[in-house]
Amino acid sequence: MPGFELFGESEKNQVQDVLDSGVLMRYGFDGMRNNHWKALELEKALAKRMEAKHAQVVSSGTAALTVALASAGVGAGDEVIMPTFTFVASFESILAIGAVPILVDIDDTLTLDPSAVEHAITSKTKVVMPVHMCGSMADLKALKHICDKHNLLLLEDACQAIGGSFDGKPLGSYGDLGCFSFDYVKTITCGEGGAIITNNEKFKINADHYSDHGHDHVGNNRGTETHPFLGYNFRISELNAAVGCAQIERLDDFVAIQKKHYSTLRDTIDSLSNVTFRRVPTGGVENYSFLSFFLPTEELAKKAHTALGDAGIDACFYWFDNNWHYYKKWEHLTHKKSLGKLPQEVINQLPDYSKSDFSKSDAWVGRTISCLIKLSWTDEQVAERAIKMKEVLAKLA
Ligand SMILES: *Cc1c(COP(=O)(O)O)cnc(C)c1O
Repeated sequence: MPGFELFGESEKNQVQDVLDSGVLMRYGFDGMRNNHWKALELEKALAKRMEAKHAQVVSSGTAALTVALASAGVGAGDEVIMPTFTFVASFESILAIGAVPILVDIDDTLTLDPSAVEHAITSKTKVVMPVHMCGSMADLKALKHICDKHNLLLLEDACQAIGGSFDGKPLGSYGDLGCFSFDYVKTITCGEGGAIITNNEKFKINADHYSDHGHDHVGNNRGTETHPFLGYNFRISELNAAVGCAQIERLDDFVAIQKKHYSTLRDTIDSLSNVTFRRVPTGGVENYSFLSFFLPTEELAKKAHTALGDAGIDACFYWFDNNWHYYKKWEHLTHKKSLGKLPQEVINQLPDYSKSDFSKSDAWVGRTISCLIKLSWTDEQVAERAIKMKEVLAKLA
């Protein structure tokens, strides 16, 4: 997945453009900037590649989720449905605007289970936020159907699956809003950065203003702009955006490399009787950033994880015990450990997750191993890795 592995002349040239003009900020300084508008350029490129009407580039993926929610008018006490298996940014962005993260089970797609989503809907629910973890997607058709039925927004967190698609649409463009991260370990990177895509003009205008202190961006004098509503600063710098301008052009090449390596590994271990693969919903195409598979039991998955590590096969994750990606280790959320007082709505409405039954999620994640696909591997390295993986896993059968 990591875009930092393939980083070269085009990135350097883009950054040099910004350094030569000396304008590091995305807004204003029209005279000095010699027509370099890197954040704007990245938005245009992203909207085109993702077949969306609008894109808003911001300072991180977490910022993108926060701005997406804010731009759709989500606020204090609104409930946002999210999966038990994701990155902590999911609930951080929801809490940041005073909304309430409602955790629900995942299924064998390793993403939101549509029936669990339907059960969790209340009169306060505003958004369903599937997270396309480890390169593959939620069953977007089923989720969209639920959202339409209950008049909810569908917000796709595509931070780990950029370049994948569902029903022929780029991931992120299927829902009402889609978010990407360009942090240093994502498929393409800006160093730090993120983006929102949408076909909804109102959401775009809101995101544009909200991410820059509420500036209305009318005219060409920042000082005289007005502020139709309260905002915040989630701007990206031109230096970061410049890196993204180079990387977005390389996305399809990166995904092709990931697909090739992924296929070699998968084809090699496919015949093992103790290995099954995560389900990709019908109509879905992965971005191949991870190869995720199930062992028959939790015990065997733990053994497999240890054995793979011992055999020198790095970057295989056992998420069940991971500090950042699975609800079991989110004790700061469960115990509401905030620095200051949380909004009263959150205090009142946040479910007591120490008492929740997520045994359905446990049954899948407890058996899952995800192996990161690196861009920098040679074909020989991948072939060798595949044979080693097969040997290690076959011994556990
Ligand atoms: C990386 C990531 C984010 C947050 O992105 P940052 O740019 O690191 O803030 C959000 N969701 C998922 C699923 C991610 O993997």
